[in-house]
Amino acid sequence: MLRLPKFSVLHPSSVAEAMQQMEDSQGQGRFLAGGTDLHPNMKHRLLEPKQLIALAGIEELHGISFADDGSCRIGAMTSLHEVATHPRLQSSYPALCQAAGLVSGPQLRHMGTLGGNVMLDTRCQWYNQSYFWRQALGFCMKKDGSKCHVVEGGSKCVAAASNDTAPALMTLQAELEWAQANGQSRMPIANLWQADGIWNKKVAPKELLVAIHLPAPSAHHFGAYGKLRDRGSIDFPLFGLAVTLDCNTDKTILSAGLCAVALQARPWPLKKAEALLVGTRLGDESFLAAVEQVAALASKQCRPMPNIPGDHEYRQAMVPVYTRHTLFAAAENRGPVHLL
Ligand SMILES: Cc1cc2nc3c(=O)[nH]c(=O)nc-3n(C[C@H](O)[C@H](O)[C@H](O)COP(=O)(O)OP(=O)(O)OC[C@H]3O[C@@H](n4cnc5c(N)ncnc54)[C@H](O)[C@@H]3O)c2cc1C
Ligand code: SF4
Repeated sequence: MLRLPKFSVLHPSSVAEAMQQMEDSQGQGRFLAGGTDLHPNMKHRLLEPKQLIALAGIEELHGISFADDGSCRIGAMTSLHEVATHPRLQSSYPALCQAAGLVSGPQLRHMGTLGGNVMLDTRCQWYNQSYFWRQALGFCMKKDGSKCHVVEGGSKCVAAASNDTAPALMTLQAELEWAQANGQSRMPIANLWQADGIWNKKVAPKELLVAIHLPAPSAHHFGAYGKLRDRGSIDFPLFGLAVTLDCNTDKTILSAGLCAVALQARPWPLKKAEALLVGTRLGDESFLAAVEQVAALASKQCRPMPNIPGDHEYRQAMVPVYTRHTLFAAAENRGPVHLL
């Protein structure tokens, strides 16, 4: 049995109190949301914070609300279950709800939060292991060691972003609201990531994600999420793809969003593929031809590595398959795509 290291827990009731407690912890603190990733990582001695700052009691971090202009605010502590099952979110932002609904299994979606999913650590089959296992292998660059087992001689960790909601939030052009020691700020989610598997975010762990803001969807918005995984539940993505399509009244695509996950350290937007879809009309020959081109391009641009479990050649072969299916699911207002 793996045991947790010793730690204490604080229960702030406001963002200001939480930030002060983080400051006082002098680098030993970590925010605790649902704990569904943090606790396993602590058991594996990947993280050993002395002080957990539990966010559950801070009211402003909870809930989903819509402004008069149709834009949406989701508190960082809102559970994945709430996100996945909220009727207005489902009709406004289908790709996000489908992605949230495919995270892990029901219990973990009730405990796990959207904020915790955005802030999820990168994953690697050589890293997400017990201390004993990692020690037997001589550790690795991400924790306790100096070499990489995925890229021999590599100087950069390529552990994979594996958070299902991240690509959906990228295609929806979400903005993230932060509390920092010196005040509050907002940033587009696209600016959050960096290509470093050791820490793939440009904000420090001591900064608090307060809320996720989504712009109002267009009148004719379509979206879907496709997730390759071994089983129908519990598993992290072996490949994930979010698709959004914004159309005019005759279903001609005005703009498209495609973003993949479970490849490398950051979610991977497929910008050239997006451009191929613009101007085509859902259901027309032009759309069918563009889907084939996009699938071929995705296959070239998405190169799964042996960083996460699952045969990477199989994952590679499934990239065009999931790309096609997810595009059709979005166009036909259905989804999610998994277990083909
Ligand atoms: C068996 C299993 C299967 C899983 N399958 C999936 C899966 O398929 N897809 C997937 O995406 N995830 C999966 N997960 C991971 C996890 O359940 C989810 O990612 C979940 O959304 C994490 O949210 P949480 O609230 O539990 O975060 P926590 O575990 O509490 O926190 C995760 C990290 O985020 C930080 N953090 C949390 N909230 C904030 C905040 N507001 N501001 C700043 N930092 C914050 C924490 O300090 C910690 O570093 C799985 C986990 C398990 C154990
Ligand atoms: S990619 Fe994996 S093995 Fe390589 S340094 Fe990162 S966690 Fe370690």
